[in-house]
Amino acid sequence: MNRGDCLCGTVCYQVDGPIAMMSHCHCSMCRKHHGALFASFVATPVSQFRWLAGERDVRTFPSSNNGKRSFCGICGSVAPIVLPEIDMAFAPAGNLEGDLGIKPQSHMFVGSKASWYTITDDLPQHDKYPPGFDAPDNVRPAVNAKAGFVLGSCLCGDVAFEIEGAPTRVMNCHCSRCRRARSAAHATNVFYRAEQFRWTRGQEIVADYKLPGARFFATAFCRRCGGELPRISTERGVAVVPAGSLDTDPGMQPMAHIFVESRASWFEITDRLPQFAEMPPHN
Ligand SMILES: [Zn+2]
Ligand SMILES: [Zn+2]
Ligand SMILES: [Zn+2]
Repeated sequence: MNRGDCLCGTVCYQVDGPIAMMSHCHCSMCRKHHGALFASFVATPVSQFRWLAGERDVRTFPSSNNGKRSFCGICGSVAPIVLPEIDMAFAPAGNLEGDLGIKPQSHMFVGSKASWYTITDDLPQHDKYPPGFDAPDNVRPAVNAKAGFVLGSCLCGDVAFEIEGAPTRVMNCHCSRCRRARSAAHATNVFYRAEQFRWTRGQEIVADYKLPGARFFATAFCRRCGGELPRISTERGVAVVPAGSLDTDPGMQPMAHIFVESRASWFEITDRLPQFAEMPPHN
């Protein structure tokens, strides 16, 4: 069995093996919801899934006529989706502990992946769902670029923001907090100076969650849809922007993988970026 926990620890669940399927998803809905460049899910029959705690704190957002997304109402971590009608439960792999007994088998929705992300592993790539998997697909409309700015929004679109100028750095972080916050293999965080950043709508429904006991670690999400959003730290003068929340190309690639010592056992790094066990020196 593998236990899953949201970032704040309120929503807990258990997935019993053997896990039937595991896949990375690059669809625009997953990217928005997780704030990551891609999501990674495991799927099992419903009988192998069990809520352990916090089910009443799970919020659900109808992301389309035929789809729903769920998240922890306190910290915004993506929560599992249980679909008895097709006897499947889908759980975000970034929140699961331990050896899953399975590795990702494919990339799906590669046709709608972020244009600035390159897949470097050898797994099969599917434009939409893998063959034989018949389900409706939902793709968000593209957002027009604005010269000199990078644009972003949440999954439901009620929250939007713009950032002027170039990022200061972009990092792939594999620490357990980032994995739980993004419910993904790793976070890709785009850093800006706070004054470059501006909410253009919906700031009043942005929830801020600061991890108790952590010096800096905090996250933000849309209260309505659970989409991960930038967190503006006024004390540090920094805007930390989840790459998946961006609608347009930030114009900078990730510089390194950090905290690779705590990376997910099922995730293999296949690009050539520098890797640091924890933080890079002089960071
Ligand atoms: Zn939580
Ligand atoms: Zn997806
Ligand atoms: Zn939203």
